[in-house]
Amino acid sequence: MGTGRRPLVAGNWKMNGLRAHLALVGEVRAGYDPGLARSVDLLVCPPATLLHAVAEAARGSGIAVGGQDAHPLAAGAFTGDLSAEMLADAGASHVILGHSERREGHAETDALVREKAFAAIRAGLVPVICVGETLAEREGGRAIAVVTGQIRGSVPDDARPDRTVVAYEPVWAIGTGRTPTVADVAEMHAAIRAELAARMGGGAEDVRILYGGSVKPGNARELLAVENVDGALVGGASLVAADFLAIARAADRS
Ligand code: PEP
Repeated sequence: MGTGRRPLVAGNWKMNGLRAHLALVGEVRAGYDPGLARSVDLLVCPPATLLHAVAEAARGSGIAVGGQDAHPLAAGAFTGDLSAEMLADAGASHVILGHSERREGHAETDALVREKAFAAIRAGLVPVICVGETLAEREGGRAIAVVTGQIRGSVPDDARPDRTVVAYEPVWAIGTGRTPTVADVAEMHAAIRAELAARMGGGAEDVRILYGGSVKPGNARELLAVENVDGALVGGASLVAADFLAIARAADRS
C-alpha cells in the first residue's frame, strides 16, 4: 500500500438483490464502526433498481454507493440503458465500468469503456475501471501486455488521479475460487501503476488500484498486503455482511 492512498473495499452485488435484501446494508453499516471508517473506505454497488434505496439506507454512514454500468450519453433514445447522470441522481458517487462480465457478455471494447469513463467524470462520478486478462492470455504469457493495453485504451487522458479507481480482476479468478499468486498480483499492480504514471505522471500515485477475483475473508489479508494493492473489488463475498466486513478489516493498516 503506497502512502496517502486510503484502502477502498467495494462490493459488486451484480444482478443480485431485491428490496427484501436491503437489510444487508444495515448490517454492513452496523459493522462499519468509527475505527474502521477512519482508515478504510467502503463502497456498495447494488443493481440499479436498488440504488436509491441503498443510498438512503447508507445515508450518513460514510458508505459510498455506486452503479455497475453507465451509457456514454447523458440522455436519449437508448431503451434499457442508464446514464451516469441518472446514477448520480439516484445517489451514486461511483460507477463500475468495463467489468469483464460486460466486456465479454456485452462486447464492450476499451474505447467504449473509455467513453463511459468520460461520462462518469462528466456526471461527477468516480469511475471504477476494470481490467484483467483471460486464462488463455495469462497462460500465453500475455497478461501484462493485455492489461496495460486495457489501461491505455480505457482510462481517459483527463481522468483525475484522486478520483479514478482501477480494478485488476483476472477473468479466470472471478467467481471461481482461484486467485493469482501474491507475486503475480504484485507484478501486475506495479505494471498498472507504471502504465498510469506514463499517462499521468506523478499523479498516478493517487490512483487506487484494487484487486478483484475470489477475495474472501480467508485470503484478503494476504492479497491486501501486496504493494500497490489499495483495496478490493468483491463480488460473491459482498453479499454476506460478515464476510464483506471481514475483508474491510483486513484492509485496515492503522
Ligand atoms: C467481481 O465480479 O467483481 C468479483 C470480484 O467477483 P468474485 O469476488 O465473486 O470473484
